[in-house]
Amino acid sequence: MAQKTEQSLAERLIAGDKRALARAITLIENDDPAGWELVREVFPRTGRARIVGLTGPPGVGKSTLIGALTTEMRKADRDVAVLSIDPSSPFTRGALLGDRIRLSDHFLDAGVFIRSMASRGALGGLSEATLQAALLMDASGKDDVFIETVGVGQAEIDIVDHGDTIVLVLMPGSGDSIQALKAGVMEIPDVICVNKADHPMTDTMIREIRGVLSLGPPTSWRVPIVRTEAAKGEGVAELAEKIAEHRAHIEAEGTLEERRARNLRNEVLELAASRMRRRLEAAVGDDASVRELLDRVVKREIDPASAAKDLLEREDG
Ligand code: GDP
Repeated sequence: MAQKTEQSLAERLIAGDKRALARAITLIENDDPAGWELVREVFPRTGRARIVGLTGPPGVGKSTLIGALTTEMRKADRDVAVLSIDPSSPFTRGALLGDRIRLSDHFLDAGVFIRSMASRGALGGLSEATLQAALLMDASGKDDVFIETVGVGQAEIDIVDHGDTIVLVLMPGSGDSIQALKAGVMEIPDVICVNKADHPMTDTMIREIRGVLSLGPPTSWRVPIVRTEAAKGEGVAELAEKIAEHRAHIEAEGTLEERRARNLRNEVLELAASRMRRRLEAAVGDDASVRELLDRVVKREIDPASAAKDLLEREDG
């Protein structure tokens, strides 16, 4: 009976039913086995959506920009899903975040699906649920999946493993942005967007970004810097164009396939690693001999690496 219900959920999801997609993501968030089963079923349908990661410090205008990009994509009759990764709270489901309101123009549009989720997985990185949610969005026939992550640093690096095109959003007059760019984030973006281009420091900012980019190795794709005023929708068409150009470039060059292969491999490893960790943690709780092993480390009778080796050997056995 349950089997039948899930099957019809999969069918509705594949047909692009927004409510089915929302329900499916909730199953995943709740770690409900029906959710994993659903992903298994619809996975062959994935791989068609264009996955665009947008990242950058808080307040630069990412949400506003995604709202404006969504409008742009809808003009081209493309279906859009937005996945917002909320770093602040693990309890985001159903919450209407302040910045999500900027997407409210699109809430009633059947061709637009918006969802925010908690950020971190057990081992850092995007949570397992986030990755599965993106797959479900893809399976439901969305043309564009925008994944928004906040912050400077690790979150930006994580997104690289899950997108076809990565847009780094910065704003003028923020030294942080340039620092982040220098600190290695530079290699991440495929497109840089300088939002709030109404700010007088915009030209200076763009010069600084060019300077930082010129320090990097030469590549077949020259990272374009697009200036936008998301709040007014200015420059957004050009940003959409650059995203499409990048995608066409990596498709033609063959790197899209490479990226996706790498991303999927990473995803498998991440899932396996986080499950392994859960198993080990459960073993620590349940198994008296594992607790004893850990106690022996505390008493300095056995070193941590030897204990870890012992633990893994038990898992294998
Ligand atoms: P996020 O935290 O990166 O998602 O940023 P938001 O989209 O929430 O935007 C932060 C603030 O910047 C909001 O008050 C926006 O209205 C404002 N904002 C967004 N785009 C622009 C812009 O192009 N110019 C100006 N002056 N303000 C903007």
